[in-house]
Amino acid sequence: WEVSYNIAHLMHFIPVSIQSAAAVRHIQELLDEPIRGGADRPGAPELPRITNDITFDRVSFKYEGTDTPVLDNLSLKLNVGKTIAIVGPSGSGKSTLLNLILRLYTPDEGRVTIDGVDIRRVTRESLRRSMAVVFQENMLFNMSIRENIRLGKEGATDAEVEEAARKAEIHRYIMSLPDKYDTQVGERGDTLSGGQRQRIAIARAIVRDPSVLLLDEATSALDQTTEAAINKTLLKLAKGRTMIFSTHRLTSVVGMDEIIVISGGKAIERGSHEKLLAANGVYRRLWDDQSHKPHHAADQADDDDED
Ligand code: ATP
Repeated sequence: WEVSYNIAHLMHFIPVSIQSAAAVRHIQELLDEPIRGGADRPGAPELPRITNDITFDRVSFKYEGTDTPVLDNLSLKLNVGKTIAIVGPSGSGKSTLLNLILRLYTPDEGRVTIDGVDIRRVTRESLRRSMAVVFQENMLFNMSIRENIRLGKEGATDAEVEEAARKAEIHRYIMSLPDKYDTQVGERGDTLSGGQRQRIAIARAIVRDPSVLLLDEATSALDQTTEAAINKTLLKLAKGRTMIFSTHRLTSVVGMDEIIVISGGKAIERGSHEKLLAANGVYRRLWDDQSHKPHHAADQADDDDED
């Protein structure tokens, strides 16, 4: 519990993530090196509400101790209010891109801007407050479901927690449990299915009411039916926000406003699914390589409309 407790506080600082021993280690590394993403400048202003775009302006980046740049003079404009998929082969830098948006790392060259302002110039806290992240494997802590969701926003009321759970379409399931929101979740969330755990993680993200929702392979560990169902929920949650969705599973990106293909450190293609298929390029090849039999969202989601 002590570890979880510390992490719980950290989560306020490092957006909703935190899962699995590896991730906890990652967080601890970040703690040990709090300024890797760049310390705030004295008197740094808060990030205002994001209105236009998140832009990569000739960004090059490599991890310390490595020689190969992950991003190489990458320029990319992500428009606010869109659902955007970042796709590309394994190791192409999708997670790195999200890490840079969160200022967990800073570019070696170039800059990441929000509405024209270099994100290094605003407080890290305000930057992270406007964003939430859902990962592939989200740790649920050894505490109640309510507390697990509340980790996303310190001081969230019970009503806010429930609202978030409704939006994540897990409220009704929670209400079917004998202890409802007070149900204790095992350290690894063993009592819940993968999809249910992911929905709780989504509720945790959404309780922050983030303007930017980042999803890092968030649904790709799930079976296809569950993945499709959760993606449906996510698309509903994307309304009025910017959703940036990194994945290598192309079945999840078909309905997104825009798909960006990252390869060789650059954004090499972008457009809608149809447009990219027609372009007959890298996306087309990735698509053809993956089996993409149509599957139906036999939704295990709650249908909360009638609650
Ligand atoms: P995947 O689809 O497998 O998740 P990805 O497209 O998200 O891959 P990244 O995780 O961004 O790719 O990794 C890009 C490259 O950077 C990879 O070669 C990876 O091995 C390397 N890398 C990632 N994190 C680190 C790190 N902390 N230190 C050193 N190298 C790293």
